[in-house]
Amino acid sequence: MSQEPIKALCWTERSEPESVYPDGINGAVADALREAGIEAETAQLSDPDQGLSEEALARADVLFYWAHSRHGQVTDDSTARVLKHILARGMGFVPIHSALHSKPFRAILGTTGNIAGWREEEEEEHVYIVEPSHPIAEGLGQKFTLPEAEMYVEPFDIPTPDCIVMISSFREGEVFRTGCCWERGLGRIFYFRPGHETYRVLFEEPCRKVFVNAARWASRRV
Ligand code: ZN
Repeated sequence: MSQEPIKALCWTERSEPESVYPDGINGAVADALREAGIEAETAQLSDPDQGLSEEALARADVLFYWAHSRHGQVTDDSTARVLKHILARGMGFVPIHSALHSKPFRAILGTTGNIAGWREEEEEEHVYIVEPSHPIAEGLGQKFTLPEAEMYVEPFDIPTPDCIVMISSFREGEVFRTGCCWERGLGRIFYFRPGHETYRVLFEEPCRKVFVNAARWASRRV
């Protein structure tokens, strides 16, 4: 196991309101990672090379990626660079929430990422850990509850995950595969569902723990 600190690149399209995420969702992720000794760099769509330059990706052991409404602005070149680093170099990839419709998510999994429905009513989300021995589940216990969530419901159009670490349930009994792992090429991928742009849920302690665990797993340090 390497003693070098993990290096993460935390990316956002930057459409999340400053009133909710003053430093962006990528800033919230980076803050959680730094607290655990992980070196986290932040980048956004408006940066040179869309914040996904060859140099920035080459430095990254893992890419955290949040996007919501500007998926179409991410170029095919940027997407191809991300895919190359996942597949050929083993960069980890952690798409968050609505990144399920992003170009890199769809391309790396060969799927639409579509969901059967959603509801934006600030309801609780109950996240059950279904694979407690998985490194991403470390320290999470049996379940955690997030105070305000946008509901997503199955079916979720993804290839069958190698491992489903977490499942969410919502007010009307809806369920969703909230934490899913795949391997593609040399890379490890972890999709994490929470993270709506107008809810502060990504500051919640269980989410911060998931980011750290996911960074370690996706970087192959555990
Ligand atoms: Zn959302």
